[in-house]
Amino acid sequence: MTRPRTTSEKSCKACRGNHYVLDNREGRLRAAVCECFVCTACGGRGHVFAEDETGVSFLQECECAELKKSLDRFNDANLPGKYLETQFDTYHPIGSQANKLALRIARDFVKDFDKEPQCGLLFMGTPGVGKTHLAVSILKALLLEKGVHGKFIDFFQLLSDIRHGYSQDLSEQAIINPFVHAPVLVIDELAKGRNTEWELTMLDQIISNRYNAADKVTIFTTNYTDEVSQPDRGKKTKDTRVEFSRSDASQSWAGEETLEEKVGDRIFSRLAEMCRFVKMEGEDYRRAMAGKSAPRSPGPGK
Ligand code: ADP
Repeated sequence: MTRPRTTSEKSCKACRGNHYVLDNREGRLRAAVCECFVCTACGGRGHVFAEDETGVSFLQECECAELKKSLDRFNDANLPGKYLETQFDTYHPIGSQANKLALRIARDFVKDFDKEPQCGLLFMGTPGVGKTHLAVSILKALLLEKGVHGKFIDFFQLLSDIRHGYSQDLSEQAIINPFVHAPVLVIDELAKGRNTEWELTMLDQIISNRYNAADKVTIFTTNYTDEVSQPDRGKKTKDTRVEFSRSDASQSWAGEETLEEKVGDRIFSRLAEMCRFVKMEGEDYRRAMAGKSAPRSPGPGK
């Protein structure tokens, strides 16, 4: 996003010179122009006079309108309010090189987004390792820094919205279309739940549509792995699945099933084509931090 000329100060405690502030309003993340922001080019009118080559004056949109558009896009992204503090700088990779690598992949994804066509990402790993944290950090950065349109959806919530829609005479298409068409879409908690035939049909509709559109990027998170066996984390059962101790949440994946078994071959093979698989591992961050003081923020330049 081009930075308009402003009187906004880096020392503004509310926005730190970003020109916008985020807020959790009724469970949704909302962005608004910071009070310190005054555009010196248009004085807040949103348009300026310009001259064409023959010297005739005309009104044109001021550069600061771009800021407002990007905040409108942010407010349309369906981001839950609980992700107010979620960003790259608040992610502290602990326990595993895999998580450091995941952070680097996520940051590079944003950095390179407008340089080259990106394939999607699928963050997989045990609960609480920060998969959603990284997926949301990517989406927030793309919306606020790269002028991208994007949306967030918890897959479980989407299914519940569709069911609710039926009772309001709303078709499933009406509910899922905004997500199908979003240029960037984060689908959280892929494969959570029973994955009934109906649930998989809904998932297939979204994935197939996005798979067939070359300009759409999808980022997923899932508690399921693509691997059939992880010898260091459990023992193989007769049918080559892995058993984990359910009493130790830090060691267990979502269960004995793989992602492919949960979503079926067709959806899985599409996911494999659409996405780079990013594996994360380790303890549930909240458990790891319980009783410990949170690590200091590494600050900029990490
Ligand atoms: P997952 O999607 O892997 O189940 P989440 O991203 O939802 O996990 O993380 C659960 C909570 O722990 C969130 O509040 C998240 O911000 C926090 N969290 C997880 N990992 C980290 C981390 N490495 N650094 C900072 N916060 C983390």
